[in-house]
Amino acid sequence: MTRHYLIFGPPAAGKGTQAGALKEHLDVPHVSTGDMFRAHLKGSTELGRQVQDILASGNLVPDSVTNQMVAERLREEDVQGGVLLDGFPRNVPQAAWLDGYLAGRGTRLAGVVVLRVHDDELKARLASRAEKENRSDDADPEVVQLRIDTYKAQSEPCIAYYLEQGLVPVHEVDGVGSLDEVRERIQTAVG
Ligand code: ADP
Repeated sequence: MTRHYLIFGPPAAGKGTQAGALKEHLDVPHVSTGDMFRAHLKGSTELGRQVQDILASGNLVPDSVTNQMVAERLREEDVQGGVLLDGFPRNVPQAAWLDGYLAGRGTRLAGVVVLRVHDDELKARLASRAEKENRSDDADPEVVQLRIDTYKAQSEPCIAYYLEQGLVPVHEVDGVGSLDEVRERIQTAVG
């Protein structure tokens, strides 16, 4: 059985940071769609040029583009035993697409980790990350608000989707605390 996991949560919930520890714990590669898009921006690829304005605006990249990028990544050798996906799926159609994709390969998700962080904390973290990482989508309060709103409107329904399906364990974890505390909570939840 393959081990395909998701780490899920609003912008600045700590997905990327915690994914670094969780991938070691699960012994699977970490695949972040946000990181992949940023690598395309940095490399000035055609895809990078295509998504540049969308990322800067805080909107989601169209599913057709994102799903194709993920499909290509999931065909690579290193992720055949499993993967920790971060930032994908980000809406219910992407979640349904992923289910179909995995089913086509004779597998399905093994677990979903949801990081819970309240809005005020998210905004404070995004403001400090804007300074440290020079991410333009973190610096503008309107873009930040749109990303939080988009998460609530489009991404959060994925949690209900998985809960209603009842096929995959959904581990909801309090994402407020020190990095070590949150890491411990995630590892305890995932087992
Ligand atoms: P954060 O979780 O802090 O918002 P990410 O690095 O996960 O940041 O994503 C940055 C941006 O990349 C998103 O605001 C969005 O424009 C784009 N993106 C990442 N993943 C997806 C996805 N699954 N579907 C559509 N757009 C995505």
